[in-house]
Amino acid sequence: MTEKLTLVVIFAHPDDEAFGTGGTLAKYASEGVEVHLITATLGEAGQVAEATMTLQQPLNILREQELRCACQNYGVTAVHLLGYIDGQTAIVPPSGPVYRIVQLLRQLKPQVVMSFGPDGVYGHFDHLAIHRWASAAVELAAENKWLTAGPPHEVAKFYHTALRQSQVDTMKEIFQRGAVLMDGVPFPFVGYPDEQITTIIEVKDVANIKLNGIRCHASQLEPTMPYLSADFDPATVPWFQQETYILAKGTLGILDSNGKENDFFAGLR
Ligand SMILES: [Zn+2]
Repeated sequence: MTEKLTLVVIFAHPDDEAFGTGGTLAKYASEGVEVHLITATLGEAGQVAEATMTLQQPLNILREQELRCACQNYGVTAVHLLGYIDGQTAIVPPSGPVYRIVQLLRQLKPQVVMSFGPDGVYGHFDHLAIHRWASAAVELAAENKWLTAGPPHEVAKFYHTALRQSQVDTMKEIFQRGAVLMDGVPFPFVGYPDEQITTIIEVKDVANIKLNGIRCHASQLEPTMPYLSADFDPATVPWFQQETYILAKGTLGILDSNGKENDFFAGLR
């Protein structure tokens, strides 16, 4: 079977990797899988969570430091920053970023890629653009074109992040937070029924690593979020136990008694 296992994760902003997938990154890094994170922007258009926070440096520099803090904590092998303008990815001609992602996929040769699904978690325009870029790059990387970007590479499995509807309901209960405000307008989180979730990664063994990764993104932690509180117990929150995905390309490996796959690399090891 395959000798070196590689996972490439493609997101839009620093912190996109933290809340929904930090445990997955930490779990695979701890198993010796090479984990690469591609982040398209530096989140410089986002708001600072605490209005009282005084910035000592430009927001893009702070957010890059926070992202690197989180990735070091997860054990990520390398962070690849594409440097696009936060909030503007939807108007970037896609051939540029898609070529760069194709180049990285052909260079890193991952068996598994993970990115946003078509919901973009809550429809953030950058998330939707990155979903398109990642999906196109996974397809094009395998084709006999753009050979200046390296020899073709076929990704075996491509996963989309996918919140369970029950998780969205719990978020509403705990945080009174069922949507993200963008320009004052609520963008609701998108949840999927359990039967549509194909893959559940158990992350309770790395829950504290996930929490520390979230804490690295201090400028993005709103006061209503409990994560900075010393008595916050990850064991009480379901998304510190399991992270959920939908397989978008490839074949599911062995399924558990609930009909779910529990390993991105199932069938590839
Ligand atoms: Zn984001």
